Amino acid sequence: MADPEAAQNRINELRELISRHSYLYYTLDSPEISDAEYDALIRELERLEEQYPRLVTPDSPTQRVGATPLTAFGVVEHPVPLLSLADVINYEELQAWYGRINRLIGEQKMDFACEHKIDGLAISLTYIDRQFTTGATRGDGFHGENITLNLRTIRSIPLSVPKDAPPRFEVRGEVYLPVAGFNKLNREREADGLSVFANPRNAAAGSVRQLDPRITAKRPLDIYVYALGWAEGKAMPETHWETMEYLKSLGFKINPRNRLVHNLQEAEEYYQEWVTQREELPYEADGVVFKVNSLALQHQLGDVGREPRWAIAYKFPPVEGTTLLKEIGISVGRTGTLNPVAILEPVYIGGVTIRTAALHNEDDIRRKNIHEGDTVFIRRAGQVIPEVVGPAQHTGDNKEFSLLEKVFDKEKDRPACPVCGGEVIRPEGEVMYYCTNAACPAQLQERLEHFASRGAMDIRGIGESMAETLIKEDIIKDGDVYRPAKDVSDIYTIDREKLSQLEGKGEKSTDKLITAIIDSKNRPLTRVIYALGIRHVGEETAALLVQKYHSLDELVGASVNDLMTIPSIGPKIAESIVAFFRQEENQAIIRKLKESGINPVAEVQANTLPLTGIEFVITGTLQSFSREEAQEKIKALGGTAKDNLTKKTTYLVVGAEPGSKVAKAQALGIKQLNEEEFLKILEQI
Ligand code: NAD
Repeated sequence: MADPEAAQNRINELRELISRHSYLYYTLDSPEISDAEYDALIRELERLEEQYPRLVTPDSPTQRVGATPLTAFGVVEHPVPLLSLADVINYEELQAWYGRINRLIGEQKMDFACEHKIDGLAISLTYIDRQFTTGATRGDGFHGENITLNLRTIRSIPLSVPKDAPPRFEVRGEVYLPVAGFNKLNREREADGLSVFANPRNAAAGSVRQLDPRITAKRPLDIYVYALGWAEGKAMPETHWETMEYLKSLGFKINPRNRLVHNLQEAEEYYQEWVTQREELPYEADGVVFKVNSLALQHQLGDVGREPRWAIAYKFPPVEGTTLLKEIGISVGRTGTLNPVAILEPVYIGGVTIRTAALHNEDDIRRKNIHEGDTVFIRRAGQVIPEVVGPAQHTGDNKEFSLLEKVFDKEKDRPACPVCGGEVIRPEGEVMYYCTNAACPAQLQERLEHFASRGAMDIRGIGESMAETLIKEDIIKDGDVYRPAKDVSDIYTIDREKLSQLEGKGEKSTDKLITAIIDSKNRPLTRVIYALGIRHVGEETAALLVQKYHSLDELVGASVNDLMTIPSIGPKIAESIVAFFRQEENQAIIRKLKESGINPVAEVQANTLPLTGIEFVITGTLQSFSREEAQEKIKALGGTAKDNLTKKTTYLVVGAEPGSKVAKAQALGIKQLNEEEFLKILEQI
């Protein structure tokens, strides 16, 4: 920019933008732009200030660290300021930094301490007379927030140090939330209907900067110490590396992945090593930090503005970015879920161009207040698919997202699966919508595998790869033509000849498969029902259904009310079964299975006890008998009585003054019986 006036204007604009984003990031822990975008603004400002040094003012963001501390915590003064770090993003920039400092110290050989730049929150810990006395955030570098009580809840922070520690000293480090803890926290927040944290850094900062330390205590925070701020009353080592070793001996947690290297080339190797392995780390790191090892050289190099000259952050390619959410599309998963997918203006993040990202479900989209046309935050971390974390700016139409509206089919005059036109349902209490059509091509592979699986029709030889073959190859005989499989009933019309012609399929294995298919025609009704893959109908539910419905036809004709007369079948399962058989394609599958000779009739086995396959857990006190007596009774009738709830539990019997099991049963969707209902079941038998 040649024109000083234009430069001044842009500088003002940048300073305003940066101040706003600093506030959102540091004070509110709720950024609206990605770090890479923020860094780009800082870089632009730095370049302009370099070009026009007289326009640099002391309050410029390039001269300041972080943001003003929140006074609600109480303010702590930092006797030695906590600075920021200059950063580079490639080897050329790193060499330029090295060239600059090398010139300043007169071309000396230098060792570097290499450390991970963990994405957390910088904190300072002061120890007086061997006790941890004050913990503070970095704040604006000179004043931080007093978060001593919160930091005391982090177990890896020593509350006291050994006798040989200096009488007064301060250490610095990064408090962070491990990735596993971050994911767990976000899942819990999502389940509680709270907003999720954009990234582990914000989550760590939000967790530490809590006015109520009990909240901090619940978060699995950890720390790595990476500097000694100052020490009084005792001589300290002369290098950074030895200082870290010494701090380790005092009980501080030092990152074992730190490395001492002897030249820039080795430092670059350290970076390259971790840039490829970063996703396996238990924490998120946004780069590495190289520090001149000799403290004498550090002193000689000093600081410039808000940054020490002797250290440099070498950033990894970013994992976050913002882009335009062009549309919310719907894809159908292998299990029939209708998944909202973000169709994005392509954006380059962390070395990959991202065009689509996960949006989870309708509730989540509404909670996050995301609309088509918004600028959204995208994050791509670990090996997971990129996801939309939240809106960055509301540039869209503010229309609340509705999945049913999105998939509404005018011709059919109802919401329809975008792949097959099948009926769409959202079972009670669930967040996902499903396509109920068992012949839906999107679900075929999964359904074939399930149909042939052990507990179902048990057809050895049809696993993942054979299911794939069935979908791809023309091996199903359909009248005079051959075609790929369209639904599970096609397994029974596989053409033997065509099958044996497939590459790698010998006569022997063909025969084996055909025999397995024929054998499977004799499976009992319970297994056939289970094999159909009706949502919420697992092996146990299938067994319960068979007690009332003795053939496929009987089950197909059952109504919701009828189904709900079976004790452990509630509206969710009943509606799912009815919706399944309402679907014409599914009726056709049943018809074809019957034509192939699969039409089992339930034998009412005389020697089967009435509660066989039903699992009970009892909580609280029962009036009619003791818990042990009740358990004996259940067992005598063929049921199982367990002490703890699992997904397999059929009923939780709730007596007086029940325990926490009630909440757990609710979470697991396990049906609860009061004593009266429990007695009724026993009496009916
Ligand atoms: P910085 O994060 O780039 O570097 C300094 C910080 O690095 C220290 O305060 C410390 O917390 C951390 N660190 C981690 N490991 C370290 C180690 N081994 N040794 C020394 N320090 C280590 O500096 P900053 O001033 O906090 O910078 C800004 C960061 O915050 C940038 O990444 C920037 O993108 C981001 N930011 C983003 C927004 C936004 O709106 N997205 C706004 C403000 C800042």
